[in-house]
Amino acid sequence: MVDKGKELYENVKKKIETSQEEGTLENQFGKFWKMACTIKTRQHDLRYLYEDTSREFVERNKDKFIVMREEFVNHMESYVEKCINIMRKKNFIVHYAKTNEEAQKIFMKELADNKIIYKSKSTEAKDIGIIDVLKKNQIKIKETDLGDVLVQLFNYTLPSFQVGPGAHFTEEEIANKIKEVYGVELEPKAQAIVEYFRTTFRKELLNDVKVSLTSANAISAEDGTIVLGENEGNISLITRATEKHIVVCGITKIVPNILDAVLMTQLQSRINNVSFNYISLISGPSNTSDIQGTSVQGMYGAKEVVVILVDDWRTKAAKENLVYADILKCLGCKSCIFPCTASRAFGNIFASKYGLGATAIIRDYIHNGIESAVNSGLFLCTGCENCYHWCPVSINCGEILKSLKKEATDKGLAPPDLEEYKDKIFKDKNPFL
Ligand code: SF4
Ligand code: SF4
Repeated sequence: MVDKGKELYENVKKKIETSQEEGTLENQFGKFWKMACTIKTRQHDLRYLYEDTSREFVERNKDKFIVMREEFVNHMESYVEKCINIMRKKNFIVHYAKTNEEAQKIFMKELADNKIIYKSKSTEAKDIGIIDVLKKNQIKIKETDLGDVLVQLFNYTLPSFQVGPGAHFTEEEIANKIKEVYGVELEPKAQAIVEYFRTTFRKELLNDVKVSLTSANAISAEDGTIVLGENEGNISLITRATEKHIVVCGITKIVPNILDAVLMTQLQSRINNVSFNYISLISGPSNTSDIQGTSVQGMYGAKEVVVILVDDWRTKAAKENLVYADILKCLGCKSCIFPCTASRAFGNIFASKYGLGATAIIRDYIHNGIESAVNSGLFLCTGCENCYHWCPVSINCGEILKSLKKEATDKGLAPPDLEEYKDKIFKDKNPFL
């Protein structure tokens, strides 16, 4: 296994070297990312909107978030059951999937013979393997969030920032790409680019969506309401102007009640220093009783709202108190990467197919094992614990990564230099010699 450790170390080293080469995609991303992290950690950008800074908002509500998440994690099964029962009463079609594979099968069954799906940004869909399955079955994925539209346009396959996946492309690059792909000449300005997508894409979203896919920012167990926050309006369009809206998410998106769900969604916007322009509360499929009081489903909005709640690793992690069990409390805000020393230094090298930073590496470990986590840059984590101090629910990702590093070291997967250093400490009984 020591040879495997060397091989993984060489892989990561090669990625770092590429990221240091001027002109590579990794280098371009790294420069953007350092700047983005600096801006995001300032946390005062929204002061013109609110009386408090985003950080003050987080600190003020921190205890509430911790209690809310612990309450859910300690009573996970009863909250899931409660949530499913109320959702079914409200005419949602609800599936509980024990594993990701089961969720993928249910999803494909719900998709039936549709060959196109319109989706919003969703790390959960990646995590649950839905995107891989769609690709394998040659289903056309139509991204609707502009960031993801750009990623698709550029055929960008490197890990990117989950919240703003296309933010590192420059206006010139986007205008050139549009010219290359669509033959349309645009002024390289954000306004002109947005206008182009508005005029070409919006009509399609309003007229032709049969099936749409979203995740959920949070789901209230008390009344089954799904909360979705966004800025662009794409989620509002594809969840209304569609025949079938499919929601796929882990059971950890469930919170005790609607106030918790809205607060959690607000937190996800404030801590990322964005202000959601739309927050949708979806409590069932479109319905009317306007003709003689007869309830008919599917007026203007979605005829069916299908919810696939996925367990996979979650109940097991709680019951067996696995090393990553704390991640069950995660609100999915993705903000722990802003103050992360490894993320700032290594951009999309300290990352996996699930996104940037510690949480993406932990996901990689959960789904693909320790070798994959090492290959994603596990040992680049400095152990600084900035993630812990930043996190609104005090999850110590640094501590989880430390346990994973120990597992990797026990299996001979640590970088050779560290192996040598370890042997030296054992030999000399002194780390400073
Ligand atoms: S672990 Fe990261 S993504 Fe999860 S709640 Fe904490 S800061 Fe947010
Ligand atoms: S402990 Fe590791 S994951 Fe956490 S902020 Fe520091 S370098 Fe990043």
